[in-house]
Formats: sequence, structure tokens, C-alpha cells
Amino acid sequence: SASHAASREHLGPRLVKEALYTYVRPEPTEDPELLCVSQRALHDLGLSESEAQTEEFKQVVSGSKILTWDEKKNAEGGGIYPWAQCYGGYQFGQWAGQLGDGRAISLFEITNPETNTRYELQLKGAGRTPYSRFADGKAVLRSSIREFVISEYLNAIGIPTTRALALTLCRGSQVRRERLEPGAIVARFAQSWIRFGTFDLPRMRGDRKLLRELADYTAEHVYGGWDKLESALPPGDPKETHSSVTTGIPKDKTEGTGLTEENRYTRLYRTIIRRNALTVAKWQAYGFMNGVLNTDNTSILGLSIDFGPFAFLDTFDPTYTPNHDDHMLRYSYRNQPTIIWWNLVRLGESLGELMGAGSNVDSPSFIGDGVKDEDTDDLIKRAEDIIERGGEEYKAVFLAEYKRLMTARLGLKTHQPSDFDTLFSELLDCLKDYELDFHHAFRRLSDVSLGEVETEDARKDVAGRFFRVNEAPRQEDASRERLGKWLGKWAERVKQDWGEGKDEERQAAMKSVNPKFVPRSWILDELIDRVEKKGERDILPQIMKLNLEPFREHWEGWDDSEVERLCGDVPKYKGMMQCSCSS
Ligand code: AMP
Ligand code: MG
Ligand code: MG
Repeated sequence: SASHAASREHLGPRLVKEALYTYVRPEPTEDPELLCVSQRALHDLGLSESEAQTEEFKQVVSGSKILTWDEKKNAEGGGIYPWAQCYGGYQFGQWAGQLGDGRAISLFEITNPETNTRYELQLKGAGRTPYSRFADGKAVLRSSIREFVISEYLNAIGIPTTRALALTLCRGSQVRRERLEPGAIVARFAQSWIRFGTFDLPRMRGDRKLLRELADYTAEHVYGGWDKLESALPPGDPKETHSSVTTGIPKDKTEGTGLTEENRYTRLYRTIIRRNALTVAKWQAYGFMNGVLNTDNTSILGLSIDFGPFAFLDTFDPTYTPNHDDHMLRYSYRNQPTIIWWNLVRLGESLGELMGAGSNVDSPSFIGDGVKDEDTDDLIKRAEDIIERGGEEYKAVFLAEYKRLMTARLGLKTHQPSDFDTLFSELLDCLKDYELDFHHAFRRLSDVSLGEVETEDARKDVAGRFFRVNEAPRQEDASRERLGKWLGKWAERVKQDWGEGKDEERQAAMKSVNPKFVPRSWILDELIDRVEKKGERDILPQIMKLNLEPFREHWEGWDDSEVERLCGDVPKYKGMMQCSCSS
């Protein structure tokens, strides 16, 4: 609502109070060149391919044209004006104060008429905003290519993420980082860009009114209504671990929704917990790391968001962090579930008074400035219990989802308690001990037929496929024997679940969840080099074919030897690279 928008009279860097966004216009783009459009994104937005070819489309996604720009309508409150969001955040565990969209500007909301899904379209790298602090509001081509590719890839493998529609090179702009680099703009979209950091800021400032309005907005506008909080969740996750926490949902908000027992902010918190538990389980099952899981980079919808030094694992090393500056390994692979929970506790603290107030949350004595500081301790105490139970729920949802995904990746139909140790852990231990490639293990396992692993010798041969080609020293007898043993146990479990003679069906099922193409760091580096230094213009749209359908075996317009190079062993010295934050 307009009351939360700071005026745009003064657009220099500043602290913005009692507002969560500022109207701001993108800077004019010098000499834009549209490099790539995601066909999947077009489709999901409900746009046609021909619409993407128009001059207007190019101008909108590069920030050169502002749609429905109408001063008069805007003055009357009826038009659309681009805006930047205000938020704060804990960075590497420390409160960092006000941050905000320093180089992202939202243009408008767009609803796909078929799915009725509403998205917020924004430009990253379109110039300074009041939240730019001392930076330039620009994004370099290198990091823009990375964000464009990874957003669409995560979506393609079923991991909730913000999306990328278009990538524009700004030929007229040179951006200074460690060196001068070409600038770029990513037109990206999400159902919401609200982060935990959006809640952190009013909480740290003690702005209770704004915090409550933000929570209401999140439930009503982002999740689509208080009654949608449960049904918005994907089916199949554990329901109702504690249904009668507190009371206090006003009648008009709950009539006919079944939401009668629980404080509605607790319900909101639990929904956000579940969403994030599901997403981090998917990251772990697919070996993805965000690299900077600060609270300003954690989404209230559980989306993967704000891609900086992200990476996929190459070999399986749980201590790996893709962030060159992450000396404490805070954002390493194995820490991600813990860190997302740490962030969720901060969110729980922001919602603490509202959750702790229980049925009192709507009473006049509580609302607005009615809550007295001496009451706060009591409210927070009660909220602590809710947060603690939330932690149990987080673990349960995370584990259920992780198990579900690993079960599918291993080609099983059921999960048995012993699978966790015998199959999951033992495989991961082998991968770790022998520095085997995480993604190849699953994809190559998909190709194994049961007839191939009937004898010990045969299993040892098959085990050899999981090692790098031409790397004899690692293929020692003992390692192949151990992996062979694992294959034997795996084959037994497959037989239990599928019976005999189902290889083809099972292999197809496995290949539909174990991608052949993974946009690893070395591939992104090569891609950046070819686009930026060599000026190639076909390679990005070509790679997008693999990127949007990564489970295929062959792709149109690609010869198999090039596919094998990109999907094969990581070139020597190009595995597990790290990235700096400057982007
Ligand atoms: P990040 O590390 O990308 O999550 O960014 C942290 C904060 O710094 C966010 O508020 C960003 O908007 C801001 N920021 C990062 N790079 C720039 C830039 N080049 N110009 C303006 N703000 C930036
Ligand atoms: Mg960020
Ligand atoms: Mg960022």
C-alpha cells in the first residue's frame, strides 16, 4: 500500500523508515543487446514466443521502456511505478542493518492467465536505488550469466527458485570490479521477493506496526490468504505435528477454513518453516549450494534466491563451500540445513510477539503501540516454545523430503529404515572417500541393469564406471570391491521394490530424476569466457537447451561428443572451484 512507500523525491543512498519500498526508475540503458530469453520462463509467464521478439519486449527487459508509465495515473494512485524493496539482514551471523534492493528494481506484477499465478518482474543491474549504499547499482555480465542459467536450471530439476526471463548485455556500460567488466541486466521474476531480512529490519527497529502489516501482507497477498497457508503446501509432507498451539484467529479470517485453534502468525511461521525445509532438502539431495545464506538471501516462499558464488558439488565433499570468502565454512554444503534453521529462528524472533500473543493478538490492548515493553519478555518466552516445536517440524519435513528424493534417485519405490545407513550413507561415504563425482554416481547408476551386477567380479567391473576415466590409481581393487558390495545391496533392494525384468522401466524412472547435464562451475566459466571474451552469440541459447531439459540423453542441434564433454568428467583442476562475492 502507498503508505509503506517512501517518497521518491530524494533518491540518494539513505535510511528509509516506516516503509518497505521506494519508487525508483531504472537508469536508461546504453546500447542494450538481448542475449538470451528463457523459453520456459516465457511459457510460465503466459507470454508467447512472438511477444518476446518485439522491440517493446527488448526495451522492457532492458529497462529502456517503463510499461504503463503514466505520471497522471501515478499521481492518482492508479498507475504502476517501479520500486525497490527495503530490507535488512544478518550477514555471516552479524546484524548488518539496512540493506535493500541496491541494484534490483521491480517493474510490475504479471499474472499468467492460464495458471492464475502472479509474479513480480524485476530488473537486476538496472542502476542505483536508495539502497545502493556506496555501490553502483550495476551487475556484471559474468554474474548475470550465472544467475540466468542457474535460476532456470533449478526450476527445471524441480527446486523452488526465483526465475530468469531475459539477459541483456549493456554494451555501453563498463562496470568496475577487480577490473573493468561489461554490465548486464537480468529480467527476473518470482511470486515474491520478500526475504527474512524484510522482517528483520522492522523488528530490529522496534517497528511493531510495520512488522504486523508485513506479516499480514505476506499471508494475505503472497500466500493468497490465511486459509491457504496449509493447502499452499505440496501434498505428501507430514501434517499437523502440533495443531493446538494457541488460539486467536478473528472470525472473519477463518470462517469455514478449519483454522480455529492456532494463532495465525504461528501458522504463517510454520508454513515458512516447511517451505524452507523442503527446499533445503532438495539442495542437499542435488548437491546445490547457495554460497551466501544470509537472512537477506532467504525467501519467505522457500525459493532459492540471490545467486552469488553458488555452485553444485563436483566430487562429494560435505565441507565444501563455493564462497571464496567463507573461511568458517558457514555456508558449506553440510551446514546448509543448520543455517537455514538459524535464519528461521531469527524470523521466529521477528514474529515472536505476534505468535506469543496467542488469542490476544487482535485485542485493542495489544495492537500497534498497545504492547508494552514489560510484556515483551512474556510474549517472547511463549514464542520460544513455538520456535522450538518449529525446529522439530523443520527436521521432520527436511528428513522426509530428503529421504523421498534420495529414494527416487536410487531407483527405489519404497523407503525402509535401514536404507538410510546401508544405502544412502554408505554410498555417500564411498563418494567422499574416493573423491567420486556426485552427479555421475546417480546418472551412471541409472544405466546399470540388474543382470550386470550378479557376481562379485561383475560388480567390481561396474564399480569402475563410477571413477574418473583414465584415473587408474583411484581404481584400486579395494575401492572397487567396496563400491561393488554396495552395488550388491542396492540391487537387492531394487529387486524387492520392482521384481525381476523391470530394468527399462526403472532406468527411465531414475533418469527422470538424475540429470545428465549439470551447470557446474567449470561449464559456467567456459560459457562466460565464450560470451564475454570470444563474443560468441549462439552458445548461450544452445546451452539453454541442455539447461532446460537436463534429464535427456540427446539434444537437438548438439553432437554427442560435445554433449559427452559437457556432461562427462570435470576437466583436471577445474573441479570444486570457488567464487568471490564481487558481482
Ligand atoms: P548480496 O551479497 O548480493 O546479497 O548483496 C547484499 C546487499 O548489497 C544487497 O542489499 C544488494 O542489493 C547490495 N548490493 C550488492 N551489489 C551491489 C551493487 N553493485 N550495487 C548496489 N547494491 C549492491
Ligand atoms: Mg542479497
Ligand atoms: Mg544479491
